[in-house]
Amino acid sequence: MERYERYHIKIKKMPPLFKIPHKYEPIVNKFELFKMITSEFFHNLKEGLKKRKLKDYIKLTFSRPCKYGVFSGRFGGFKPIKEKCVRCFECKIEYPKVIKDVIINPHYKVLEKFNLSMEDIDTILFESETGMEKVSGMGYKGPFVGKGFDSIWLDMSEIVRPTRDGKEGREYISTETQIGRKVKKFGEGISKTVTVQIPVIFEYEPLKDDNFHRILSCAAYEAGTFYILGISNFKKLERDYKNIFPLFKREEKIEVVSSKIVEFEIEENDDIKILEELKKINDKSIMIARIKAKGDFKELIYFVLNEGAEGIHLVFKRNGYAFDNKKHLTEILRDLNKDLIEKGIRSQITLIVSGGINKAEHVPKAIGCGADLVAIDIPLHIALQSEFKERDDEYEIILKKLNFDWGKQRILNLLSAWHEQLIEALSAMGKRDVRRLVGDYGRLIFFEEIFEESFAGIERVK
Ligand code: SF4
Repeated sequence: MERYERYHIKIKKMPPLFKIPHKYEPIVNKFELFKMITSEFFHNLKEGLKKRKLKDYIKLTFSRPCKYGVFSGRFGGFKPIKEKCVRCFECKIEYPKVIKDVIINPHYKVLEKFNLSMEDIDTILFESETGMEKVSGMGYKGPFVGKGFDSIWLDMSEIVRPTRDGKEGREYISTETQIGRKVKKFGEGISKTVTVQIPVIFEYEPLKDDNFHRILSCAAYEAGTFYILGISNFKKLERDYKNIFPLFKREEKIEVVSSKIVEFEIEENDDIKILEELKKINDKSIMIARIKAKGDFKELIYFVLNEGAEGIHLVFKRNGYAFDNKKHLTEILRDLNKDLIEKGIRSQITLIVSGGINKAEHVPKAIGCGADLVAIDIPLHIALQSEFKERDDEYEIILKKLNFDWGKQRILNLLSAWHEQLIEALSAMGKRDVRRLVGDYGRLIFFEEIFEESFAGIERVK
């Protein structure tokens, strides 16, 4: 008989393999710097030598004008030690001719596009290194309210028994969920579902790097979750890894696959032919329709569900917004969830959401707004220390040469840290099962709503 074991992700410290990019960079006018150093050197020479030896005096002069040691390397300000810069702007304020600007490293600038601050990136790096939650000890230092996920707070006023017991393992808080279609009523056939241990799966990534796909496939298996692969990569890995499923893009040839789940892309009603073909040759698989959040996507969702798809994967831009308007996924999800409830099909089907799920706190917030599961991508790249480069208005992700065990463990650590935080949130909200949070707006506080309630009838000062 198999022994029951509670869901747990094995963590192991896994320090970064590559140098973490510096955050700030002073832009130096080298000619002006040379002029400043030489004039200071000769002007203060006499006075300086009274206080210090010549060697120390030269060293001090050449490390000007930063007291944090950015210019204290062998080549002074001609080759600044960028890692030491804290962007205090003192150098620029005092020597505007010498220091042209102090800029943010383009690597981090690109990540701002996904609404990730430097602190968020530090947090993901910490989580993937240690597998633990980051505790600052200084309380939350961020803004009071922001856009998207930052305008939602988790209502933790229902501090009930599972709170500490759940977090410390005395009481089990389940993060298990299902992908597929459930029967409407008991006795109406059998549900067609697959169990996932944590409501976080790995998003499809069109990169040509077998090692990267192997790392995510193996991590998905060990963590009891799934990874969505393009069909060509899926074919290469389907024998070795169980927890992967393929995505058929619109123009791709339909093939027989061994996976329990199949995702297919659909942009208009005509694409439904893909579903028909897929059902003919993979009739046992769970069919998930991948739909972009743009245009009449809601109509397309109802249509594809009527045609027999078991679930929907609603894709947003990587910053969490719709493709053709300024609506955030939290707003769209709430609206869609409400409509599906009114149509009487919400509890039967699966709703996966991706795009902009970049922090642990986004998971319970997206689920509270109506998603069953989320698919993540950018945090996986940060954990694997990928490089982000700006290309015109777009960006490029450059993978590092990855070590398999290192990469797999970094992903497992990240998931473990997010799992712990999900349990923390669930237990503080009085939930023993993540499925009970799906679409439970009562456990979320929306800034716009409480702002309206609190200041209703009071005119704004102009
Ligand atoms: S911004 Fe501050 S830390 Fe950075 S180089 Fe200038 S003085 Fe030094």
